[in-house]
Amino acid sequence: MRTTSTPTHCPYCALQCGMNLSPLPSGGVEVTERADFPVNRGALCGKGRTAPAVLSSRVRLTSPLVRSEGTLVPATWDEALDRIAEGLRRTRTEHGPDACGVFGGGGLTNEKAYTLGKFARIVLGTSQIDYNGRFCMSSAAAAGMKAFGLDRGLPFPLEDIPRTGCVILVGSNLAETMPPALRYFNELRENGGTLIVVDPRRTRTAEQADLHLAPRPGTDLALALGLLHLVVAEGRTDEAYIQERTSGWEEARAAAMAHWPEYVERITGVSVPQLREAVRMFCEPESAMVLTARGPEQQSKGTDTVGAWINLCLATGRPGRPLSGYGCLTGQGNGQGGREHGQKADQLPGYRKLDDPEARRHVAEVWGVDPDSLPGPGRSAYELLDALGTDIRALLLMGSNPVVSAPRAAHIEDRIRSLDFLAVCDVVLSETAALADVVLPVTQWAEETGTTTNLEGRVLLRRQAITPPDGVHSDLHVLHELAARLDVEEGLEKGFPTDPEEVFDELRRASAGGTADYSGITYRRLAEENGVFWPCPAGGDGGSGHREDASPDAPPYAFPDVHPGTPRLFLDRFATEDGRARFVPVSHRAIAEEPDDEYPVLLTTGRVVAQYQSGAQTRRVDELNAAAPGPFVELHPRLAERLGAAEGDPVAVVSRRGRAVAPARITRAIRPDTVFMPFHWPGEGRANTLTNPALDPTSCMPEFKACAVRLETVRD
Ligand code: SF4
Repeated sequence: MRTTSTPTHCPYCALQCGMNLSPLPSGGVEVTERADFPVNRGALCGKGRTAPAVLSSRVRLTSPLVRSEGTLVPATWDEALDRIAEGLRRTRTEHGPDACGVFGGGGLTNEKAYTLGKFARIVLGTSQIDYNGRFCMSSAAAAGMKAFGLDRGLPFPLEDIPRTGCVILVGSNLAETMPPALRYFNELRENGGTLIVVDPRRTRTAEQADLHLAPRPGTDLALALGLLHLVVAEGRTDEAYIQERTSGWEEARAAAMAHWPEYVERITGVSVPQLREAVRMFCEPESAMVLTARGPEQQSKGTDTVGAWINLCLATGRPGRPLSGYGCLTGQGNGQGGREHGQKADQLPGYRKLDDPEARRHVAEVWGVDPDSLPGPGRSAYELLDALGTDIRALLLMGSNPVVSAPRAAHIEDRIRSLDFLAVCDVVLSETAALADVVLPVTQWAEETGTTTNLEGRVLLRRQAITPPDGVHSDLHVLHELAARLDVEEGLEKGFPTDPEEVFDELRRASAGGTADYSGITYRRLAEENGVFWPCPAGGDGGSGHREDASPDAPPYAFPDVHPGTPRLFLDRFATEDGRARFVPVSHRAIAEEPDDEYPVLLTTGRVVAQYQSGAQTRRVDELNAAAPGPFVELHPRLAERLGAAEGDPVAVVSRRGRAVAPARITRAIRPDTVFMPFHWPGEGRANTLTNPALDPTSCMPEFKACAVRLETVRD
């Protein structure tokens, strides 16, 4: 155990708040303020403050478990690893490499995500790898790639937000999901800027807004089109910018002009005067931003929905201008880095495409393999989970809990149960781990070193602060040992080092020249700087000592002999072939499952402040459980009255996929045609039992945010 405090980062969301971990005389560690990290300046939410509770052996796994006569029993590491190797080898021999699936997580460090992708492709030889980040921000990623040729959550640092003129925040309840970020929006308003929040619910975030637009769930595509229509009709487009920096405007303009404000009002429920007011607030200031989150993204038309908001930004000349543009508030701790380095079905490290021959050649050379030996793109996350027990017979899963977090979760749970073999690496016995044939207890944030990439594209170093408990090893150790056991060519495990810095140095080479170029970032730099923004190619800046894209009051850069990183993207050109941003013409369409006589109400899902994602970690923290002990159904008083339900009464929510029961929480903060359920809990109140896996055709994002349900009272 170290005796001094260690500066590091929170294990949970994409803000990646800085914190110090200080050893306690009684053992264990406490979180203390780390004011020098600019993203959160010492502020933390309850999840971050209580994160050390999950380090306690009271709640976590400290021994491998293997299934024996139907029960998980303790085993040695060698027994457990041998069993996994045998399960994967047998599957590969009997059914071929694509019968082995790999499922990763947006919480894995860059080093783990990189190694997991490499393991799948060169040890197992499978194309069947994806991760739960697909459920988080893949629609924004796809829309960003289409429009800008590059996907980085925010193309500017959070510090730009207070200095812009107006922010439209679409489908983000950051007052609950990442509370320390709220200060940027408070400062925006203190500086005279305005905040528009688009959300069907009057959330804690919406309460802070100057204007709250509450569209019917699944209609924000129409809302964005209606705003763009008004921008054109009122002559508020930036014609010079459109001419100089974009392509495709005429088609996008024509599509928007078909969405008359009155038509949009009928679709969304947002009145024409509100639409006009939003356009005025957004267009009048010199600078403005649109930020999206899961609301517009988790739809079967999420890519088009985000595309419509990007079109609004482009038509008003925002992206690539100071203090302006479009950004996505990523969700998971390493949701950004996790999608850059190869655990996504269609990607190689550096945000390279798996079907690009040059990308295959480059990465294969770094890995020391024949490019032709690399499998092609595989299935997206839901499609992969849906194929379990059919043509995918064995699964290696790291850092994910799909029994709670996947859409149509009862079906996915059945698919997982039908596997021939399941191995799970986790810190706790999650609902998915409880179904496994082998469970490996792995180290977590404070017990290991590794990098993550936050929502700004800032690469960060999480430092090891404490020694892991006996019986626990890192995910990198697991992959090294499995590579050795599954080796078809002697020495393959040497390509799977257990030292995270060694992995990172290889990742740098694999990413060099790619879109997400990390080659100029080193652990030493990360230890001395408060993160480095990608792209950061190896090489200098000519010795100027200043970041060209830094704010004017930024101090001289400390490392003039290396690339300073890129806090602000697109200032000169976009990452497309011709350097222009692309308008993508989009039109309103319905969600996959509109309400009808049988299922007349809309369900939308989301998070609460005291729990995180599937709750596997946070449901093990007493303080968080006291604040958020279980699921609930939020509904409007009019709907409650029609149902005959009082506050706290159990309410059954029924969709075409199943039934969930949770207490009623009656509030005027939600539309009368909509109910809301948080998705952190398993069992009877599992919200994802109900959700619709209808996929976006581009991003393969499931439609978590809107499906048709009916409500029933529960007698017993
Ligand atoms: Fe951790 Fe996110 Fe809370 Fe910050 S806002 S303390 S990163 S959970």
